[in-house]
Amino acid sequence: MSILEAFDMMDYGPAPEDPAEALAWLDAHERRFNLFIAGEWRAPASESWFESMNPATGETLAHVASAGAADVDAAVAAARRAQPDWWALGCHGRARYLYALARQVQKHSRRLAVLDSLDNGKPIREMRDIDVPLVARHFYHHAGWAQLLAEEFPGHEPLGVAGQVIPWNFPLLMLAWKIAPALATGNTVVLKPAEFTPLTALAFAELCREVGLPAGVVNIVTGAGDTGAALVAHPDVDKVAFTGSTEVGREIRRATADSSKRLTLELGGKSPFIVFDDADLDSAVEGLVDGIWFNQGEVCCAGSRLLVHEPVAERLLGKLRRRMGTLRLGPPQDKAIDVGAVVAPVQLERIRSLVDQAVADGATCYQADTPLPEKGLFYPPTLLTDVGPASIAAQTEIFGPVLTVMTFRTPDEAVTLANNTPYGLAASVWSENINVALGLAPRLKAGVVWVNSTNRFDAACGFGGYRESGYGREGGREGLVEYLIPDWQRRLPALREPEQSLPSAAFGSAPGTGAPLGIDRTAKLYIGGRQTRPDGGNSVPVATADGQHLGEVPLGNRKDIRDAVEAAHKAEAWEHSDGHTRAQILYYVAENLAERGEEFAARLRHMTAADVANARREVETSVERIFAAAAWCDKHDGAVHDPPGRNLTVALQEPMGTIGIVCPECAPLLAFVSLALHAVAAGNRVVAIPSPRYPLIVTDFYQVLETSDVPPGVVNIVTGRPAELSPVLAGHADVAAIWYFGAPSGTVAVKSASVSNMKRVWTHEGRGIDWYDPRQGQGRELLRQATQVKNVWVPYGE
Ligand code: NAD
Repeated sequence: MSILEAFDMMDYGPAPEDPAEALAWLDAHERRFNLFIAGEWRAPASESWFESMNPATGETLAHVASAGAADVDAAVAAARRAQPDWWALGCHGRARYLYALARQVQKHSRRLAVLDSLDNGKPIREMRDIDVPLVARHFYHHAGWAQLLAEEFPGHEPLGVAGQVIPWNFPLLMLAWKIAPALATGNTVVLKPAEFTPLTALAFAELCREVGLPAGVVNIVTGAGDTGAALVAHPDVDKVAFTGSTEVGREIRRATADSSKRLTLELGGKSPFIVFDDADLDSAVEGLVDGIWFNQGEVCCAGSRLLVHEPVAERLLGKLRRRMGTLRLGPPQDKAIDVGAVVAPVQLERIRSLVDQAVADGATCYQADTPLPEKGLFYPPTLLTDVGPASIAAQTEIFGPVLTVMTFRTPDEAVTLANNTPYGLAASVWSENINVALGLAPRLKAGVVWVNSTNRFDAACGFGGYRESGYGREGGREGLVEYLIPDWQRRLPALREPEQSLPSAAFGSAPGTGAPLGIDRTAKLYIGGRQTRPDGGNSVPVATADGQHLGEVPLGNRKDIRDAVEAAHKAEAWEHSDGHTRAQILYYVAENLAERGEEFAARLRHMTAADVANARREVETSVERIFAAAAWCDKHDGAVHDPPGRNLTVALQEPMGTIGIVCPECAPLLAFVSLALHAVAAGNRVVAIPSPRYPLIVTDFYQVLETSDVPPGVVNIVTGRPAELSPVLAGHADVAAIWYFGAPSGTVAVKSASVSNMKRVWTHEGRGIDWYDPRQGQGRELLRQATQVKNVWVPYGE
C-alpha cells in the first residue's frame, strides 16, 4: 500500500510489540518454573506442573509448579525465619530494597509488560502505559513509607508473615499492591498468584534475587485454589490478604474464623457509572470506554452499570454505539489494539452465559460489527439495554466487556439505583456541575468515587470496598495500617470464660437479698429511643457479686435484635449530621452521667463488689471517656492527596453505618461507653449487647441517653444471652460491622456469621484490654474501626 492510499484509508496498520525479550526469558528457564522459596527455585513436592496459556493464541507459554501443602509449609517457614532480620534491618534498610525493586521494575518494564500481555491477553498498550508504571510507583511510594515508618507509626510492629492471594486480571499490579506495603512494614510474604497468570510473579521473584533481597522475605508459590486454601489456612500465617471474587472471599472468611489471623478482602464489584444531563457527553463516552472496555472489562471496579439521566439517554447511547464501532479487538501485543483476549475459556463461557441469560430475561443486546480474530478467546464490546434493576445483568458481576444500561430521572433515583447491589467498590459521576457531583459522592456506597473520570489509581490513595466488595484498603496510609499492630496489642492477657453467665432458668430463680422491698425498677430493652419489653416476654435474673438477687433484665431474642437494627437504620440522619452537632450531644451525655455519678457508682458497687473508690473511678473515667469521644467528633478528618495527573483525591472518613457491639464483662460501664460512644462520635448507629453479668449498668445508662438529646435509634440496647444474640447481630445484612469483646468462646461464631454481608469484624480474639489506658480504650484505633475511607477523585484543569 502506498502512503497516499494509507492516508485515504486512514486505517490502522499492524503495530506489533516485539515479544522476543520476554520469550527469550521464558526460554532461558526452559519454559518450566519451580517455586520460589527461601530465595531459590525449588521443585514442588508433588512433582507436578501445570500449563500457563496465551489466551489470544491458545499456545502454551510455560509449565509452572503446582504447590501442595508441603511446599506451602516450606514457604511459610522460610518467611517466618526471615522476618525478624527483615524487621531488624530498620526503616532505611528496607527502604533501600523497595527503592531497588522500583528501579528494577523500570529497568525490565518491557519484559514485564509483554509477559502479562501474553499470559493474560491484555493489550500491551495498557500494560506499558498503566500497569507497569503503577507497579513502579507502588514500590517507590512504599520505599517512602518504609523510610518514614518509625516516625509516622510510632509504637507499631509488623504482624509477621503475610499470606497473600491474588487474581489474574492485573497480575503484576496486584502483586505490587500486596507485596510493597507488607515489606515496607517489616512483614515477610508468601504470595500465590492466580493459576491463569503466574508468569510476572515468577519474573518478579527473579528481580528480588537481582536486588539481593534477603532469602525468604518474598516467597512465591504457584498453584490453583487448593494452594491458596492451604496458604490461608496455614497456622503460622499472621495476616491473610486476598484479592478475588466475593465467593472465594467468603470461603476464606470461614476458613480463618477460628484463628486470630488478620484479614483484608478486596472483592468483586458492579460499579455504577452515573451520567447527568449536564455532563460533557463526549467525555463520558470516552470514560465509558475506559470504564468498561479497559482490560476487556475484567476489572473489579469496572463501570459496568451505566445509569444515565433520562433526557440524554438516547443521545448518549447513540454516541456510545458509534464509538463501540471504532474499538479495535485483536492481538493483545498490537499497540493499536483497544480490547484484547479474555483470560481463559471458563471466563469466556461465563460472559457468554450471563449475556444469554440477560437476553432471555428480556434485555436487548447490542454488539458492534467489529471483526473478531479467527482464533483465541475474544468477546466483543457489548451493550445491554431494557434491563430491570433486579435482573441478573444489573446485579451480577460479569467480569467481561459488557455494559448494562438503566435510566434515572432524579439524583435520588440515581443514588437508589447506584446502591442497589450488594457490592460497593467504586462509582463514577459525570456532571459539569461540581455541586451535583460532590453532593452525590458521599451518598454512594463505594470505597472510591471518580468525578468526571474513571479507573484512576495511585499508590497514595487507598483502594477498597464497602459491603460485599470487602474490607481493608490497599495503598496510602490506610493500606499500611493493615499490616501493622500497635505494640500493646501484642501483650494483652487472655481472658477467661465468664465465671457466671445468665442462668438458664427464667424469672425468679435466684434468691432475693432479703432487703426491704422498695419500688420495683424494671430494666427494659432500649430500641428506637423507647424503653421496650422483650418480644419473648421473658426476663432473667441478675445477681450481685456474692450471688444475691439484684434484679432482672429482659431476655432479648432475634426479633428484638431485628427491631433494634431497624431502629438504627431509621436513624440514618445521624450519619449525615456534622461533627459539631454530634460533639455537643456527647458532651451533654457526659454532663448528665456526671450529674448522676454517685448513683452509677453505687450500682457498680452492688454489681461488681468494687470498693467505693474504684466504682467512682470507673464512673469518672467514663465521663472523661465520653469527653474524649465528643472531642474526636470534629477531628477525625480525612485528607487531600495530590496524586500524579491533574486530580485531587479527597479521602473522607465515612461512618460504617450500624455497628453491632458485644460488650466485655470487665469495666462494664467504661467499656460500654468507650465502644458505643466512639462509634457514635464517628457518625455510626449502634446496637449493643451488654455483658450478661453486669447488664444493669447499661440499662441504667439509657436514661442518661434519653435526657441528653441523643436521637432515637442512634444507640440501641438489647440485653440477653450474648451467645445467642451476637451471631444474629453478626449475621444481619443491615449491620455493617461487628465489634466483639464478649466471651472468648463466641469469637468464632461471630466471625463465621459475619460472612452474610462480609462485614468487618473487630475483636481482640478473647484477649482483655485495659479500658483505663487511653491508648487502648480511646482514640484513633477505635475511630479507625468506626470508619472506612472513601476516596473521591476530582480532576482539575481543562
Ligand atoms: P477468584 O476468587 O476465583 O480467585 C482469586 C485467587 O484466589 C486465585 O489466585 C485463586 O487461585 C485463589 N483461590 C481460589 N479458591 C481459593 C480458596 N478456596 N482459598 C484461597 N484461595 C483461593 O477470582 P479471580 O477469578 O481470579 O478474579 C476475579 C475476581 O477478583 C473478580 O470478582 C474481581 O472483581 C476480583 N478483584 C477484586 C479486586 C479488588 O481490589 N477489589 C481487584 C481485582 C480483582
